[in-house]
Amino acid sequence: MDKNSIVIPDWEFLTHEDILQLLRSEDKNVLEPLWQQADEVRKRFVGEEVHLRGLIEVSNICTEQCAYCGIRVKNPHIKRYRMTLEEILESVRMAQRFGYGSLVLQAGESAAVMPTDWVTEVIKEIRKISDQAITLSLGERPENDWQAYRDWFSAGANRYLIRFETSNPELFQRLHPGHPGLERRLFALKKLREIGFEIGSGVMIGVPGQTWDDLANDIELFRTLELDMIGVGPFLPHPETPLGREFHENPERRIVPNNEEMTLKTVALTRLVCPKANIPATTALACIDRSMGHRNGLARGANVIMPNVTPEKYRQLYEIYPSKASTAEAAEIFDKILKEKILSIGRKIGKGRGNSMNKK
Ligand code: SAH
Repeated sequence: MDKNSIVIPDWEFLTHEDILQLLRSEDKNVLEPLWQQADEVRKRFVGEEVHLRGLIEVSNICTEQCAYCGIRVKNPHIKRYRMTLEEILESVRMAQRFGYGSLVLQAGESAAVMPTDWVTEVIKEIRKISDQAITLSLGERPENDWQAYRDWFSAGANRYLIRFETSNPELFQRLHPGHPGLERRLFALKKLREIGFEIGSGVMIGVPGQTWDDLANDIELFRTLELDMIGVGPFLPHPETPLGREFHENPERRIVPNNEEMTLKTVALTRLVCPKANIPATTALACIDRSMGHRNGLARGANVIMPNVTPEKYRQLYEIYPSKASTAEAAEIFDKILKEKILSIGRKIGKGRGNSMNKK
């Protein structure tokens, strides 16, 4: 079939080949129907509400070596921090004032700096003052420590985010030196679901070495895993990381572009294969298009935004990718502008926790 003559099959019937063709297409006549279908499916399955999740970057201390991430253990150039309980509660109160229905506690990974009991205590203290859904994005605990996840769930956490980053086991290994492998990451997601969490995952787009097939497989894996939440964003090269250096030094390793259009195509296809999932217009997307990134994501399948409520003094230190900090207006200003943007495209500000529609 001529690549210009592709007709998007109904979302239920998208095959690997369809996904590949759509990812590779740059033809307006192909992409317009994709945007439209993604927006219709979004409207039909998750409605007009845009759910806001207050992101708290609890700590940038990390013992891992993820080859893409600016807060990896081997970056000696950043000052490390862990927020105090009182600072975290202050961020929670801010998110409550803004009416955000849920919180996301995200951090680098260090069982020594964030012991299980400390996290449990934080969750319990938040629960005393807040009815918001609590999402954890604290990575994988070492040594298959499922008890930690169970404790956190019992303490009142509701959701867990861990991106699998890529469905290609070899690429996964290159991205995560020293990690036991993709299978364990996927097993952790399964365990988290069994424990009772809503589960979220996702990938980066345009990582050096990622092929078109890889990205199409990623999208298909979203469908297989029946995820409640799916976050996708462009890979943003960080100069203090092996992958950031590879990006600049070996342009021939760049296969899938890490640009806005690729991200939007991935968001749209993700919506089509997982119609009920909560899908954010991510901060990384907003970083590469500061004026329209969020709105474009919302118009092409996304229904969630995660505004940052981390204290400003820490935000600049949580530099998983460059220039992230400089996008961070004061939370009040960001909140006001964001809500205006949401209303300006005819959407509603989400009320309540914005739970997964998967079980409904
Ligand atoms: N330690 C936690 C939180 C990591 S930050 C964990 O690993 O789950 C959350 C996400 O940010 C990661 O899953 C990754 O997909 C994304 N990220 C990290 N570095 C990035 C980069 N350089 N460019 C784009 N996204 C990045």
